[in-house]
Amino acid sequence: MTKREIRQAPRAARRIVVKIGSGLLSDAEDGGKIRTRAFGEIARQVAQLVAARREVVLVSSGAIAMGSRTLGWSHPGRSIPEKQAAAAVGQIGLVETYRKRFARHGLEVAQVLLTRSGLEQRERFLNARHTLQTLLELGVVPIVNENDTVATEEIRFGDNDNLSATVVNLVGADLLVIVSDVDGLYREPPRDGQPKPPLFDVVEHIGAEVERAAGGSERAFGRGGMVTKLEAARAAARCGASTVVCNGRRRDIIWRVAAGEPVGTLFLATDRLASRKHWLAFTTRTRGALEVDDGAVRALVEQGKSLLPAGITAVRGRFGIGDPVACVAADGAEVARGLVAYSSDAIERIAGLPTRRIGTVLGYSNGGEVIHRDDLVLSSPSADAPRDPHASNA
Ligand code: GLU
Repeated sequence: MTKREIRQAPRAARRIVVKIGSGLLSDAEDGGKIRTRAFGEIARQVAQLVAARREVVLVSSGAIAMGSRTLGWSHPGRSIPEKQAAAAVGQIGLVETYRKRFARHGLEVAQVLLTRSGLEQRERFLNARHTLQTLLELGVVPIVNENDTVATEEIRFGDNDNLSATVVNLVGADLLVIVSDVDGLYREPPRDGQPKPPLFDVVEHIGAEVERAAGGSERAFGRGGMVTKLEAARAAARCGASTVVCNGRRRDIIWRVAAGEPVGTLFLATDRLASRKHWLAFTTRTRGALEVDDGAVRALVEQGKSLLPAGITAVRGRFGIGDPVACVAADGAEVARGLVAYSSDAIERIAGLPTRRIGTVLGYSNGGEVIHRDDLVLSSPSADAPRDPHASNA
């Protein structure tokens, strides 16, 4: 494929997740004033896409920004409960504004509020998938946000960039468009008063150079800086979807991205993980870790094998059957994660033993594998899976 053909790839996407950042819907410089025009622009472009027989799911931030405004605050809430309160107030206006703007184009919208802890349960994940699929079949535009009311700091996605990547997996989208108020990923972090550095045009692999360029930036009303956008692009890539990060203040930007114009930064899709494995790697959080020896690392990484009790040297954390758990090497690096067939208590007792002794030691057997290969996903290449709190030796 030529460079031009690669750049035009988004043109072929049928199902598109469009993530709208708070920075686009409100004006930080103007005390968080809501930019109602932006809603109209989004609705117009999405309606054009729907008319061209493409399916669109919106993931929209802006509840906290809108709620703060309604409550007459000049800040987005100082504490988590204040932010949650602002989100609860603002979500109404957010969806209502979209509803009115989409109605002008004869389209209905639906409000879908998701939480990470809900989606960690496979059954609920599948339920959310069915609902979203049905909405799309009905020609309705789903508008997704995190359910901030119940999502406390430890359990939340926290930023809609990561949420939007999970939505890519939920609906099997082939393109993620992250619409923000920056033009794309700059080759180095832009500095105030200096000319803007050049953008990355196409990113094939999110490695150290790209991560460095993303630096760290948090905005007043939105949560995500470039770092969370990279996380989202990486997760979407492993789902077989490419991602474009672009500036929503530019005219017709969503339409232009979907038409394959070379705007913003395009992150290419990589190898596609099966949806269930993607869920395991990017939506669930691990409940503990199993330290494994070098032989087990080789069996998992090089030979595509399951994890047997013999290779386990230590158990960290407490977890039950079916919970997601990290497999970490002796140096603390996460090599894989998977759903365990035994509880942490049981694994403590069978760690290091040959498989045939499971039955005698425990008095029962759930099978010879502590994590079956079908329930396991490798964390490499590179740092593809999110970092794991149990995975360090410290
Ligand atoms: N859920 C938050 C809101 O609607 C936004 C989180 C984010 O900006 O990523 O305000």
